[in-house]
Amino acid sequence: MRCPSCNKFASQSIDSNEPEMDIDIDDTTGQITGTVRIVVTAECCGDELKEATLDVDIDFPDADVLKKHQGKKHSLSIDQLSVEAVDEYQTKDRRGKPIKNPRYQTHLYGAEISGSITCECGKLDLPVEWKDTTAASSMDELC
Ligand SMILES: [Zn+2]
Ligand SMILES: [Zn+2]
Repeated sequence: MRCPSCNKFASQSIDSNEPEMDIDIDDTTGQITGTVRIVVTAECCGDELKEATLDVDIDFPDADVLKKHQGKKHSLSIDQLSVEAVDEYQTKDRRGKPIKNPRYQTHLYGAEISGSITCECGKLDLPVEWKDTTAASSMDELC
């Protein structure tokens, strides 16, 4: 793709800024849902070239723990939330075998979220992690 600003063939990389994240926790079920938008920019001028929106859907990680807090009508929230861009190559095929030739490794972009679920009672602090990627070639082109 060409860079819209300088019209040169653009080297692309995932935006190193924090991806835009819009997620929420259901305060009774502990289910975390929302979206993260990742953007690929031109290295020369920083123009946005491609984007993808990843759906976030994280189940509460421990059903027994959840029951204890739900039973008392406690309100759950998410804390220490952070999000990072992911830039990696798929190095294993669907059956888990290594893909040795870099030509056949799919370039993946994505995002990684971490945080912890806490409860208003102060007796819960459960780490959650989430990661999703999409093939760089399947992202929506913006220009
Ligand atoms: Zn440029
Ligand atoms: Zn509680």
